[in-house]
Amino acid sequence: MVAEQIPVAGFVRDVRADFPILATDLDGKPPVYLDNAATTQVPRPVLDAMTDYYCNDNSNVGRGIHTLGMRATDRFMRSRERARAFLNAAVASEVVFTKSTTESVNLVAEGFAGQLVSAGDEVLISGLEHHSNLLPWRRLCERTGATLKIAAVDEHGEPSLDSFRAAISERTRVIAVAHVSNVQGTVNPVREIAALGHDQGIIVVVDGAQAVAHRAVNVQEIGADFYCFSAHKMYGPHGTGVLWGKAEHLDRMDPLLLGGGMAPIASYDGPLRSMPPLRFEAGTPNIAGMVGLAAAMDYLDGLGRDAVGVHDAALAVRAAEGLRALDGVTVYGTQEPLGGIVSFNVDGVHPHDVGSHLNAVGIATRTGVHCASPFIDTLGIVGSVRASFGVYNTMDEVQLLIDTVATAEKGFW
Ligand code: PLP
Repeated sequence: MVAEQIPVAGFVRDVRADFPILATDLDGKPPVYLDNAATTQVPRPVLDAMTDYYCNDNSNVGRGIHTLGMRATDRFMRSRERARAFLNAAVASEVVFTKSTTESVNLVAEGFAGQLVSAGDEVLISGLEHHSNLLPWRRLCERTGATLKIAAVDEHGEPSLDSFRAAISERTRVIAVAHVSNVQGTVNPVREIAALGHDQGIIVVVDGAQAVAHRAVNVQEIGADFYCFSAHKMYGPHGTGVLWGKAEHLDRMDPLLLGGGMAPIASYDGPLRSMPPLRFEAGTPNIAGMVGLAAAMDYLDGLGRDAVGVHDAALAVRAAEGLRALDGVTVYGTQEPLGGIVSFNVDGVHPHDVGSHLNAVGIATRTGVHCASPFIDTLGIVGSVRASFGVYNTMDEVQLLIDTVATAEKGFW
């Protein structure tokens, strides 16, 4: 049981001081921030790295021969190398900087899968996907005449390898699946799914938005073709994300945007020579953001991603146990919430009302459909309350969550 492996309390005590927002006051209460699956808070070293960039090295990248231009370019390139190491990618040119997971998935769907998929083909996603890993595929299917197929989840909202196996056909061209569910923290067997897909020549795309903050991700070991994530869910800044793709795929992928920075030279009619990853990064990038992304990777690795994963999961496991023990509370999913996320409802109380009740004591949770409405429909609910945990959360906060939900359950309103 994960809860027994929780790292010593010192781990949390030390990191809390790194997050200025945790020392702020919410109407007389300290923030109890349990909405980490939406966005994590940003630690001082990440803020400092971005400030330092703006104060000392700010310029544009890949353009100027002056000192600041070269410094900015160097920091940007070092951030790409940092992301390569974070993912254990083979080469830095396999790391494309985007603004988010959403942009990364759209880039693969339009720029790459668009070349593979035609009428009568199939794209397979799982039944628990976030809209960002559903709508780009839906549009691709509508545009090409392909069919969007769904690997079914069971009555607990959990998919299995067999459900993917059953949904694959000889027309399947792409499988796109979340590494970790953003609703109930289920961890999908992405390595096995990638092997299954590759056995049949299918491209496999993994949405890692909810995974990277809670586990070491080794893209070579997973063996998928593409891996997508956002920095703002792993203690980095908003507006920065990554698309990792195998070099051979990036070589043939088309960009979403065209413009400055993507090619050394352009002409009115000649061929456009543009190499990955710059081919996909037209326009001035979010340079300070990428410096922050790299600092967030340093921060997570400094704590140890495995230790962080165990800590977050231990809090989620304890929260699930405590909430399940309350009368009238349903916790979704049967697997241990190793993704650090717990979703629940209180009988007869709308999730928004539970969320407001929690907010009244300073606890931030997410309520509603979590940008995964087909999945929420499958569960047969209007939405849920989601508590999601990060490095700075404590067992005391988990207990406060449970105690506060218990008062909601007693019909406080
Ligand atoms: N995929 C999953 C599983 C998510 O949880 C999220 C965000 O919540 C996204 C994709 C979209 O991430 P972003 O809004 O950073 O593009």
